Amino acid sequence: MKTVFGLYGRLRGNPNPDIHILYLEHYHFEVPVNRFVFLVLSAFLALSLFGCNEEEKIQNLKAEGDRLRAKIDSLSAAIDQVQTLPGNWNVQNDTVRAGDGLFQVLVRMQINERERGKIVLALQDSVELSKLRVGQVFYAALDSAGSVQKFRYAPNPATVHMLSRTDSGYVYKLIEKPVTRRQSIFEGALTEGSTLNGTLFRVGIPGRMVGIVSGVLQCKVAFPLARAGDKFRILLEETFYQDSIWISGKVVYAEFDGRIVGHHEAFRYEDPDPKSSFNAHYTEKGEALVYDGLRYPLDRLHVTSPFGSRIHPITGQRKAHYGIDYGSPTGTPVYAVAEGIVTVSGFDQFSGNKIAIRHRDNSESWYMHLSARGVGVGAKVSARQCIGRVGSTGRSTGPHLHLGFKNEKGAWINPASKTMIAAPKLEGERLARLHKEVAEIRSQIEATLAAPAVKANDTTDVMVRMRNL
Ligand SMILES: [Zn+2]
Repeated sequence: MKTVFGLYGRLRGNPNPDIHILYLEHYHFEVPVNRFVFLVLSAFLALSLFGCNEEEKIQNLKAEGDRLRAKIDSLSAAIDQVQTLPGNWNVQNDTVRAGDGLFQVLVRMQINERERGKIVLALQDSVELSKLRVGQVFYAALDSAGSVQKFRYAPNPATVHMLSRTDSGYVYKLIEKPVTRRQSIFEGALTEGSTLNGTLFRVGIPGRMVGIVSGVLQCKVAFPLARAGDKFRILLEETFYQDSIWISGKVVYAEFDGRIVGHHEAFRYEDPDPKSSFNAHYTEKGEALVYDGLRYPLDRLHVTSPFGSRIHPITGQRKAHYGIDYGSPTGTPVYAVAEGIVTVSGFDQFSGNKIAIRHRDNSESWYMHLSARGVGVGAKVSARQCIGRVGSTGRSTGPHLHLGFKNEKGAWINPASKTMIAAPKLEGERLARLHKEVAEIRSQIEATLAAPAVKANDTTDVMVRMRNL
């Protein structure tokens, strides 16, 4: 214990920017202490519960102890290495605040105007300065004359951007430490009364990734229409520094199979350029999953009849149902699901009062059995604009909204599978690349499913398939 706290004391007293020492302070400290406590507990358990395996357990603990000692030695070596900065240098640091750019940080560090400009210039090609996060820390080592000799920014523990002053100006260096990449697969089904996020937690998806996963799913699936029993499968890839310090994570693949919303797959596409704006999730056909999608036509969605084949309530015949029926009281406001131009506003004996809106990708949304129509042909409507009222006109057994959707070719499609308008598509070389990536992702899914089951994370007993890349 003493060694550990002694080490911590040295780290805190050494805010030196030259090397990863600052991360030692924030991260490594917890690792040895936790491990130490774990060792003591394990030793106790081993001795009290597993008497017969005592010898073996003790050997394992000794080996673990040796590893821990080696780690402390390497940390000490790192500390010694950075203590070689000239003693008259003065180390400044400052933290990014809400609304800050690098410039504001440099001003607070009292770096002079000329050097501020040079530092920004030297960093701007390598660092996405527009993506600074609140709480990130910059370090500068100033010499006795107050000019910056070294400048350091680490967006995460494994990536350090370093500027060093030379006679010809600042020299930039990127220090990338080795990381491990890990893929895990999560499968589950929605249950009655649980939220999507709650369900994602329950199947073992780490809390830090739940928001990202639900964002990807919501691009493709209209969740008010998801039902208990609907199944999903997620392939995550996460990057760790020293096996335990989380650096980043992404959703490589997401699959959703719903009773009403249908079957959907999303694949992570990546251009060779990591900053490419095409890097996003797509369907296998190359349609981007962008969440600027359709709005809902009613404030409350209660599906009384989904898209597909059904027995017609009046004629008793089996008939395709080219839309979704939402039960709702007469007079309830009906909203346009996206902006567009009204192409139909009229009445017929089957659909009753009906409205159709053409959207910018030439798809059309249709609203039927209305008690009132609020817009005429040619009107320009915006998303969520009220265009009429729920009714029971035409061939209808009770007040409901029939929502239909035609694709750009005029064929009826399942409105629940249509979640956005005019999504950008991958074409040509990019589409070919996507298809290669899709094949690769499918083989990654197979490989991960075949991996041994391990605990999903430290805070759950859920077992998942996981493998290091
Ligand atoms: Zn209907």
